[in-house]
Amino acid sequence: MAARKKTFYITSPLYYVNDLPHIGSAYTTIACDCIARYKRLQGYDVCFLTGTDEHGQKIFKSAKEKNLPPKDHCDYIAGKFQELWRLLNIKYDKFSRTTSANHGKIVQEFFKLVHSNGDIYEADYEGLYCEACEDFKSEKDLLEGNICPIHKTKAQEYKEKNYFFPLSKFEERLLKHLDQNPGFIQPSYRRNEVLGWIKEGLKDFPVSRRSVPWGISLPIDSTQTIYVWFDALLGYVSGLLGDSDIPSIENALKNYWPCSVHIIGKDILRFHAVYWPCMLMSAGLPLPEKVFGHGFLTKDGEKMGKTTGNIVDPYELINEFGTDAVRFYFLKEIAFGKDGDYSRQSFINRINSDLANNLGNLLNRTLNLVNKNFNGEIKYESSAGETLNLAEKTNLTIKNYEKAMDNLELKDALDIVWELVDSTNRVFNNLEPWKLIKNNEISKARSCLYETLEILRNICLTICPFIPETANKIMLQLGYDRLDEELSWEKAGWTKTKATYKVKEGKPVFPRLEQI
Ligand SMILES: [Zn+2]
Repeated sequence: MAARKKTFYITSPLYYVNDLPHIGSAYTTIACDCIARYKRLQGYDVCFLTGTDEHGQKIFKSAKEKNLPPKDHCDYIAGKFQELWRLLNIKYDKFSRTTSANHGKIVQEFFKLVHSNGDIYEADYEGLYCEACEDFKSEKDLLEGNICPIHKTKAQEYKEKNYFFPLSKFEERLLKHLDQNPGFIQPSYRRNEVLGWIKEGLKDFPVSRRSVPWGISLPIDSTQTIYVWFDALLGYVSGLLGDSDIPSIENALKNYWPCSVHIIGKDILRFHAVYWPCMLMSAGLPLPEKVFGHGFLTKDGEKMGKTTGNIVDPYELINEFGTDAVRFYFLKEIAFGKDGDYSRQSFINRINSDLANNLGNLLNRTLNLVNKNFNGEIKYESSAGETLNLAEKTNLTIKNYEKAMDNLELKDALDIVWELVDSTNRVFNNLEPWKLIKNNEISKARSCLYETLEILRNICLTICPFIPETANKIMLQLGYDRLDEELSWEKAGWTKTKATYKVKEGKPVFPRLEQI
């Protein structure tokens, strides 16, 4: 029997369906898709889960405003997310919805587990709640006048009898876990944030609400529903169930748990890095291996917001520039983890300089010379020796790219690849293969072109997780048609492939964008 492939389980957040998907959700999901594709390329058995978080007060209100039953509202918005992921070429394996019947069963089973382990108690809650965060706040979390610093809306006071989870009880265990697993929360500045929260002291939080009808009913008290975050985090578990599985936590976790990495925005770090691991500890389940919190996006240096009209519409962006341009821009422009800015000018500049000029021109010039002078066919001649002297650099690029990708340094990985693109362009220009041909130095011209094709093939391997359509197009122009076979990490490195390139006609894969 063949050895079982190593598994890799990656999740995007389950997006809140109070509104249509925005560019922030698109950015997170593109990054997840890129990592998932990279792991598949390396031969892992990957499960990439995304989905929607569909319960809570805010969604109940959004539906009411639109005069829709809450479930109809959720179905509509969940469909819009799926549509956007299709447009962005997001290849997810599971779409987890928290209104699914399976999810409800998993949440109730989990609650009973925590309850039977003695980690649920009844008490009065009196305090503040930000509906937009769906989170309990204390005054020190808020700005003057109880304004939420994230949402700029007023947190509401409420008083209820609720069931609580004793988060404070897990303080030391969580601290110890962070200590023993330095890579658990990433990047390191997010880890420091979490350490700060633990040092301030963790507060128990209600896991049920009396006044929120749109939620999963509490197994021990039907007058209450389960608090939306206690419910939503379990979407990473319930969404793993197969169609024929009996819905149980055990069945859900059997193939892909523990999660390799939860990718999230920094605004929901507390839920993933504090609440979630403590909930799992209480239930006696393994913790995820990593939580990675990326930064916020701004537009033209300003915070994006509907009220100010300062937004980037993902649909418009795809419509105007195409899927791969959008995927490439955000992953190349912004250091993954840090905050980043979008501007139309930087978008156009980025695509023109990196894709149309540097990569596109190299490909085009090479293919044109091969087609014009060698009938589209170039053979590898080991006796010719190296002409470009970039074999070692290509192999080093592959190695460094791999290291960056494994650390989730997506921008760094692309920077490493583009350094090779630039070097190749430079050496190619200096060698002037068109002149070599004219001067009848055919053997030298041939190896220059062969080596450039070989570098382009390696570049395809590195960019295919980022811009899969473009990588496929280039591979086809290089004369490969069995892409599944050729786009495999085993083929990465210098001359690990066929000894003859039979190329196709060169067509620009990225036309220059006009300044408008
Ligand atoms: Zn808030």
